[in-house]
Amino acid sequence: MAKLMRLKGKTAFVTAAGQGIGRAIAERFIVEGAQVFASDINPALLDGLSCDVQTLDVTDKAGVGRAIDAARPDILVNCAGVVHAGTVLEVTDAQFEQCMTVNVQSMLHTIQAALPHMIERRSGAIINISSVASSIKGVRNRCIYSASKAAVIGLTKSIAADFISDGIRCNCISPGTVNSPSLQERLAESGDYEAALEAFIARQPMGRMGSAEEIAGFATYLASDEATYVSGIDGIIDGGMSL
Ligand code: NAD
Repeated sequence: MAKLMRLKGKTAFVTAAGQGIGRAIAERFIVEGAQVFASDINPALLDGLSCDVQTLDVTDKAGVGRAIDAARPDILVNCAGVVHAGTVLEVTDAQFEQCMTVNVQSMLHTIQAALPHMIERRSGAIINISSVASSIKGVRNRCIYSASKAAVIGLTKSIAADFISDGIRCNCISPGTVNSPSLQERLAESGDYEAALEAFIARQPMGRMGSAEEIAGFATYLASDEATYVSGIDGIIDGGMSL
């Protein structure tokens, strides 16, 4: 990978950096010269990252506040998210609450903690990970997950509008099917790995899943000074899934 050092001099805070998209973003940001604070609920997953690492459950509001106040990030990446399977007739109130707490309310708290530091500097980039399964596309068996990810898009645009005059940029990324450890778990749990893999791949007209590194590349652009005129967008990276 070319070392362009596009994030040199910037500090980045990344949630759910232990594996998948979050880890790829943390690793790419390190290569690009950022000082990275990588966090995850599972400390074992942070092994091997050559940056500041810390255990953080994004649903712990006080812990989020302390961690972000210490990092004072120029860049905040909200990657933590959980997938729930099921239709509207199958979902319980407890599942809805957990999904919205992890996927949406956690972003509210990280952003509330990071914004004052960014506003003080009159500069900041916030990147929220949404999904094509959201307001972009109806995906079967992803009822509350899609509702939560649509909320992430709305949250992103609202923050972009409210703080644009303060030098803050807030964007989101909506991936399609990305090969990650949790996706592999969902394939394994399906009971027929090969059939489930084929079905996942068939969703993308490009005929393959995306990689976490492909998402990290776009996150790097949004975090960098190459994107200083970009705020409030939802970058769809989905191999054509939503076409
Ligand atoms: P993953 O699901 O394999 O890993 C998730 C990571 O989040 C793990 O390291 C886990 O320990 C951490 N985590 C879970 N709950 C947490 C919490 N409460 N606090 C802090 N960390 C927590 O990774 P992924 O599949 O790359 O997904 C990352 C993000 O991308 C999620 O928001 C997901 O919804 C989104 N996304 C993924 C895909 C995909 O196909 N993989 C598609 C669209 C969007």
